[in-house]
Formats: sequence, structure tokens, C-alpha cells
Amino acid sequence: MYSDIIAEQKKKYGRKLAILGHHYQSDDIIRHTDLKGDSLELARQIEKLEAEHIVFCGVHFMAESAAIVRREDQKVYIPDASAGCVMANMAPAWLVDIILTRILEESGRKIIPLAYVNTPAAVKAVCGRHGGSVCTSANAEKMLSWALSQGDGVLFLPDRNLALNTADRLGIADEERLLLDVRGKGAALDVPATLDKKLLIWPGLCAIHQRFKLSRMEQFRSEYPGCKIVVHPECPPELVKAADGNGSTSYLIKYVEAAPAGTTIVVGTETNLVNRLGDMFPDKSIIPLGISFCSNMAKITEENLANLLLNLETAAFEDVSDEIRKPAKIALERMLEVCA
Ligand code: SF4
Repeated sequence: MYSDIIAEQKKKYGRKLAILGHHYQSDDIIRHTDLKGDSLELARQIEKLEAEHIVFCGVHFMAESAAIVRREDQKVYIPDASAGCVMANMAPAWLVDIILTRILEESGRKIIPLAYVNTPAAVKAVCGRHGGSVCTSANAEKMLSWALSQGDGVLFLPDRNLALNTADRLGIADEERLLLDVRGKGAALDVPATLDKKLLIWPGLCAIHQRFKLSRMEQFRSEYPGCKIVVHPECPPELVKAADGNGSTSYLIKYVEAAPAGTTIVVGTETNLVNRLGDMFPDKSIIPLGISFCSNMAKITEENLANLLLNLETAAFEDVSDEIRKPAKIALERMLEVCA
């Protein structure tokens, strides 16, 4: 029934409406989307779309990113604004501001903030204001190299696993990294300990990817000799090191696509995407490294999508104030320039 309503509303709005879905959405949602992709791939498409109504099926920071890069005549909506991201919530802008200000003022060093795209718009704005930028899991290596070339060190946030995995790829030694203690509203931060460090790492993580276990990986290796194992770089470093490959959701999809028929591939990322890969490539055996659904992604349902579309003319849309939007856009544009 909700499915029929969605189809009717899509017909009614035609090209004025575009429904975008992140790879971690359920098949119930993905089947209604006009475009699917990772958060940045989708945000990049928005300006090019003819549609004036953009419905983003994903978590809130993704809809916010879309609202930062939208055209003036477009509106961005999310079917359930309470769909947050556990990792993004670990680095609220007020705390990032306190930590960065303390480091800059007390150390006197030029520290460049680099935010993973999984952050609220206000955090991207902090990066924009302080000469920093944004990165994705696909370009973290390039962006971290860039940020290191801009100052005396980098504050990477909020995902410590992505920071550590990227540091490994770039050969940044353990002694040059520091996992920050941001407890007590920033009071626990030990600024003198940051002085000889190149990479200052925010202690956030994604519970969905942290859950995967090295022991399970080893079991798969013995159960399926010759299998390939690929994981997302939000997984802990010991898993990334033991895998045959690691990368963004787009990388994982391309890896499976390119593998020869008959290959057994164990995939460590959110379960909706892993299951979909199994459906998309029936000539390969796709096995989840573990069952790990993102409960926030699951807040987007056919019911709330249908309700949004029925009330689109009066529905609340994502509104990022100019005070945040302008510096956040600068941070995003720096990334697009570096990665052009
Ligand atoms: Fe956030 Fe992890 Fe869910 Fe992605 S999978 S939205 S990083 S909690």
C-alpha cells in the first residue's frame, strides 16, 4: 500500500522530484530511488538534477550535506529527521570547537582540521573556518596528505579507525599519532602531549563496523579456502590489515563486480549492502563478515517516505543557516578542488 502511494506521488511530481538513497538503505527503499550511491556521490549529483524537490533516504548528516550543496531553487527533505549517525554524534560542533581552540591557542601550532563527511554541517563549518576540509572514505589518503602539507599537523575527526587505516597507508609512524582524550567537555585534553604529533585523532567510531571480529575473518579463511575478504575502512585496523582489500562502499561494489564468476567474497560492511551485492551478482558467493544493520538507516521506511511525499508541499525541509552553510561549503569545495 505505501509502495503504491510512493509510485503515485512519483508520477504526480515527475521530474520535479528526485528520490536519492544511500547504499545502506533497505531494498524496500532502494527500489523507489532515482539515484543510489554513497553520501558524497549523491550530494555531488544534486546541483545537476532538474528536480526541485530532493528526498534524501539516508541519515541526517547526508541530508544536511545535500542542503549545503543544493541550488537555491531546490529543497532537500529527509523522511525521518531523527535518523542520526552514532559516529557523527560523537563529534558535536561545540566540542570540536573547544578542542581545536585549545590546541591552537595552547600549542601555537597550525593544526588543520579534516572532517570525515560523516559529520554535522556545523563541524564541516569549523573546518572551513580554520583552513581545513572534508574527506570521504574514498579520498581520505589524498585529503590527509593535503592537510598535512597545509600546516604543522592535522586534527582528523570523528572516525579513529579511518584515521588509523589512512595513516597506515601513508606510512605515518605510531609515534607521530595521538588518540585524543576529549572527555569532560574537553577538560581531559592533554595539549603538551600533542606537541610532537603529526596526526591528532578524534576518538569516534562507527558501531556497525567496529562490531566485526578478526576471529570471524580467520574462520572464513579456513571454511572457504581461497576466498577473498574485503572490508570498509571504518573497520578496526587489525581487520583492514588482514583483509584482501578495503575501501568505500563504491570500492566494495566495484570489487565484487570485477571478481571472476564463482569467487567467494566475504564483505565487511552494513548488511543491507552486502545482501544486495549477493542479489546483484548471483554468479558469485557473497557472504557477510557479520550481521550488522545500521538502526538509524533503518528509520527510513516506506511508510514515512510515503507520508513525506503526500505532504511534500508543506513538509519541513533541511535548512542550514548561511552562517554554517558558507564555511561548510568552503570546506567541501576545498576537497573537490584537491580531488579534481
Ligand atoms: Fe553512521 Fe555507521 Fe550508520 Fe554509517 S553505518 S550512518 S557511519 S552509524
